[in-house]
Amino acid sequence: MNGQGLLKGMLLTLRHFVESYADDIKYGFKKFSPDVDNFETRQGTQTRGVFTVQYPDEKLAMPERFRFVPFLVVEDWDDELNPGKDWCTSCGICAKVCPPQCIWIVRGDDPVTGRPIPEPEAFFIDIDICMNCGFCAEYCPFDAIKMDHDYELASYDRTTNHVFDKEKLSKEQRYWKNLAPTRAAEEADVRGGWEHKNFKKSWNTTKEQAQSAQAEKDTKRDEVRARKAAAADEKPAASVSDGPIIVGQPGKAPWEESEEIREKRRLGALQRKAIRAAKRGDG
Ligand code: SF4
Ligand code: SF4
Repeated sequence: MNGQGLLKGMLLTLRHFVESYADDIKYGFKKFSPDVDNFETRQGTQTRGVFTVQYPDEKLAMPERFRFVPFLVVEDWDDELNPGKDWCTSCGICAKVCPPQCIWIVRGDDPVTGRPIPEPEAFFIDIDICMNCGFCAEYCPFDAIKMDHDYELASYDRTTNHVFDKEKLSKEQRYWKNLAPTRAAEEADVRGGWEHKNFKKSWNTTKEQAQSAQAEKDTKRDEVRARKAAAADEKPAASVSDGPIIVGQPGKAPWEESEEIREKRRLGALQRKAIRAAKRGDG
């Protein structure tokens, strides 16, 4: 019969229209509220009424392998032996494979001997250039860089907010375990445990060792500060070349620190990099 299809279509639209209101009543006019645990039903085949996701009131659940910008995995901040220890060894592989070249790493040096240490002193990712390909996470030999699910990063100030520094990039191991439990467990199985056997030897394995390592670090830091202070007394104008020494805000995780502290830390890293380049004769 002519017009039968048209009629069917209109009836279907009418059904969805009515069912949307029926759904509202069913959930007490709170169907977009996070308090109502109906999201799985509304995303599944049993859903009725409107299908549109009412973002930002509603958000689609992210699959485990969803990827947005990368983050760096560090030991938990309350870990007794290696609090906040970087998994990254600043090997630079991720920066090499990154197609748009938006990763920039400053390798760490021992403050006393000047020899390289397997820790990044600074780590930057320009998240506006990052194309979320996930190559860095795939190639990292230490499972130290992972793809995050946080996609709500819009801001009006690109320079300040979209060049992520090490503090902003670092997230605890437990964050990764919650974000992608299956992948995290698979990777741990392959490694033979949650620790990295490749550089486990450099980690503290007892409380005494952790305390003595911390004491050694404190002593070294004091020595370097004293040396810098003495140099500044002799040549005040040149002392800026070593960059500001930023020790962070007590009691705060690095990503909770103020923008000002992070900016100072970033400038310090840039200055030190420039000095090293000048010494090598690249600058
Ligand atoms: S590849 Fe992994 S360990 Fe190497 S610099 Fe990148 S994040 Fe660090
Ligand atoms: S996700 Fe891709 S583009 Fe983004 S930092 Fe990693 S390698 Fe580079």
